[in-house]
Order: sequence, then structure tokens, then C-alpha cells
Amino acid sequence: MTAARTPTIVHRDCYVDGAWVGADARFDVRDPATGALLAAVPDLPDAAVERAIAAADRAWAGWRRVTAGERASKLAAIAAAMRADERGLGALITAENGKPLAEGIAEVRYAASFFEWYAGEAVRLGGELVPASRPDQRIVVTREPVGPCALITPWNFPAAMLARKLAPALAAGCTVVAKPAEQTPLTALALAAIVDAVGVPAGVVNVITGDAVRVGGRLLRDPRLRKISFTGSTEVGRLVLAAAADRIARVSCELGGNAPFLVLADADVERAVAGALVAKFRAGGQTCVAANRFLVARAIAPAFVAALAARVGALRVGPGAEPGVDLGPVVDDAAAAKLARLCADAVARGAEVAVGAPPDGSTRMIAPVVLTGVTPAMAVWREEIFGPVVAITIVEDDEDAIARANDTDAGLVAYVYSRDLERAARVAARLDVGMVGINEGLVSTAQAPFGGVKASGFGREGGHWGLDDYLAPKYVMTTLTPGGAS
Ligand code: ADP
Repeated sequence: MTAARTPTIVHRDCYVDGAWVGADARFDVRDPATGALLAAVPDLPDAAVERAIAAADRAWAGWRRVTAGERASKLAAIAAAMRADERGLGALITAENGKPLAEGIAEVRYAASFFEWYAGEAVRLGGELVPASRPDQRIVVTREPVGPCALITPWNFPAAMLARKLAPALAAGCTVVAKPAEQTPLTALALAAIVDAVGVPAGVVNVITGDAVRVGGRLLRDPRLRKISFTGSTEVGRLVLAAAADRIARVSCELGGNAPFLVLADADVERAVAGALVAKFRAGGQTCVAANRFLVARAIAPAFVAALAARVGALRVGPGAEPGVDLGPVVDDAAAAKLARLCADAVARGAEVAVGAPPDGSTRMIAPVVLTGVTPAMAVWREEIFGPVVAITIVEDDEDAIARANDTDAGLVAYVYSRDLERAARVAARLDVGMVGINEGLVSTAQAPFGGVKASGFGREGGHWGLDDYLAPKYVMTTLTPGGAS
């Protein structure tokens, strides 16, 4: 499996106006499993950031006029190129993010599916002819691209988070300056190489790397970037919204989740456990849709906890490139320290450890932990855990489960397990979230609107909703010549 460990498609420079641009100042990208240096990528100087923004601005005039069919064919070509090298790209994701190779490859497929979906949407991007109030008037509504966009993405899905923004932006006729997270810029640069190879015109897609505050801040503030699409932490989300408010930019924000996972008293325990493993442990729990708070009906709790504990105890932690590994390392030392803090706080406040040993922050390889007796007084309840820690709370009935599920600022996704679909639907209807999985632990898919309510942000990625985020309706009222044919 040596091939899987050595990424073969490392690009070390930024992609600006159709060319690769280096810099003297660089920062290291390391494999979180080993600490090995993968590449040093540019801390792009301001002048080059300016060139990227100017290129996106200039290229927009041409790209918005390219036919929908041509835009669709470019998107389809990007998807095909990604799928053709899914193993290489998957290994690159594993190398810089740490997730198991099978998950890296799955992410490439998921990311490619957005380019495929939006290739299909691009050619259906029609307008409307609206009945007017007078017979001599015509009202035509078109959907115009909002303009050059800033795309700011996190490290947990280095390909998919960018694809979910880039595919609809390109389909809509927008150009972009994308800035991946410092931990995982290599996958974004590899996507830039694919964009280049399929012949997307220079300047339409720019991928730049650099200091989050300096380079990211510049993207947030530049008035030529008419829309900002951000996925990341709530704290940075606030900065994004403040910057957008300052210059009245369009903005979409996908922020934290704190997802509840409800196991109702009549749930099928095996299915609930299988769903829990996916909802909790995909990407090592480092996802905004990760199940954060397990709310388990008292009647079923002993069976559920025992079955889950058995499965969790058997998960293998190790370098993601090694065969048979279920969980890779967490992304960096700060993530490991946070998990240690959350577990210590929970135990100090009375939680019990059903499986594993609370991490002490000394290693990024975190063996999974199951905590029971979790209460709202604990930090694991309020904060996104973002790691392989299962936090279980017993609830008395469906009402109790709903009230506790909604006891959070976040509102991204919830999971509900029950044999009775009507009961599950009633519960789902009362959960303040943007997405619900009923007897399903993985809701993300290209054709559905991914996004949240409350402090989880706004805007949707996926389906035709995802395209709307990059479009502005424009209506033209025409009064016909008096006496002319109508
Ligand atoms: P996480 O906590 O998941 O690492 P962050 O919100 O810190 O998420 O980062 C998400 C993205 O936001 C990354 O691309 C990061 O570089 C970027 N970012 C972080 N701080 C800022 C900032 N002050 N201005 C603009 N972008 C930022």
C-alpha cells in the first residue's frame, strides 16, 4: 500500500489567472498521521492576491456569456477527471487530512457528484415570462450570476467543501477566488490542476493559499468579490458576516452543527447502532453533521449502549493510509487538546466512561470513547466535539428528546431512529434544524439542500437551492409600441 501513502499529485504553487504562482514565503503542510512534510505552499503576498481577485473580476465578463451547454461540459469534464484519478486524489486527501483512504476515495466521488449534478443544472437555468398587469407590457425574469465569488473552505472535506461551492458557482456563470484551509490546501490545488487541464478559461477559477487572517481577510473585504461563501467555525463565520455587512456582499455561511441523534423507544437497535457509527465516526467525527448528542430513550438505552459500545470498542485507529484502519488521526494538536479538555470536563461533572480511555491530548491518534450520563452542564453538550467521542444522555420520552434536541444554538442536522415512520416524522417536524435523517446516518447528497437554521448559518449547498445562492433574479419590464402587434 505504499502508493496510497505517497501522494502523487502534489502541486506546490497557487493557481492565479490560469498560471501557477509561487512565493518566497511559504508554510508547511504536514501529514497529521506522521507529521511528515508533504509540501510547503505559498503564503501568497498581497500583490498576487490582488492579481487573483482582478483575474476573477476580468474573467467574469466572458464566463457569464459562455453558453450553458459549454459550462456544463466543463463541469462534466472536471467530474470525469476526478473520477479517473479517484485513488490519487483520495490518497492526497488522506495524506493531508488523515482520514482513512476508503473515506478519501468516497469523498472524491461525493465531490465529483456535485460537478455532475450542476452540469445537469447549468443547462436548465432558464428564466420566466410573468403575466403583466397590462396587455402591452411584458415581464421577463432572468437569473444572473451574482459575480466573482470568494470561496473559503475548511480542512475536514478538502475536496467536497470546495466542490459544493465551486460547481454551482461555475454553473451559474460566476468566477471564483478559492482559499482552502491552511491544513489541507493540496487537494484544492490538485482540483485547480484539473480545472486547468479541462480548459476552463484563465481567471475563472483561482485557488490561493496563505495566512487565514491576511489573505482570507482580503477576500472578505474586496468589493469586487460580490459574494462570499464560507464553511467553517462559528467564530470566523461572525467575522465573515461582519465583513459582508460592511460592504453589503451576498453571503452564505455553513457553520457548526451540534447534531442530536435521537433513538426513540421503538427503534431497531441494530439499525440505530449502524447509523450512529456513520453519523459519529465518518472523518473521525470531524464533521459539522457529526452526531454530537445521543438522546436515547430509557427503555432502549441498555441495549443500544451495549451494542454501540461493542462496535465502537472494535474500531481501529491508525494512519489513514494503512489498510483496515477505521479512524485516522485528528487533524492537529489543537484538536487533540480540545478532545482532552471536553472529556475531562464531562468526567469531572459526572459522566461515565463506557468504552475507551479519555484522551490526554498527547497524541493525535484518539481511541474512540463512549461517555454516558452526559448532561447540559457539560461542555460536550454545548460545544461541537469534532472527534471520536460519543456523548449519551438518557431521555424519558419523545417530548423530552425533542426539547433536549432543540436545546442548542445550532440547527444543522438531526437524526431520528424509530420503527414507526409516522412517529419519526412527527418528531422530525418539531426539530429546529435544516436537515433530518430518519433511520439514516448520512444525509449529504448532491441533489438535496445541505444547510442549517439558527446559528448553523444560512444558504444551501446542493440541488437547485445550491444554484440559487449564486444567482440574482433580474426582471425586465417592456412596454410595447402603442398600436403595435401584441
Ligand atoms: P476550523 O475551526 O474548522 O479550522 P475555521 O473557521 O478556523 O475552521 O477555518 C475555516 C476557513 O476559514 C479556513 O479556510 C480558514 O483559513 C479561514 N479563516 C480563518 N480565519 C479567518 C479570517 N479571520 N478571515 C478569513 N478567513 C479565515
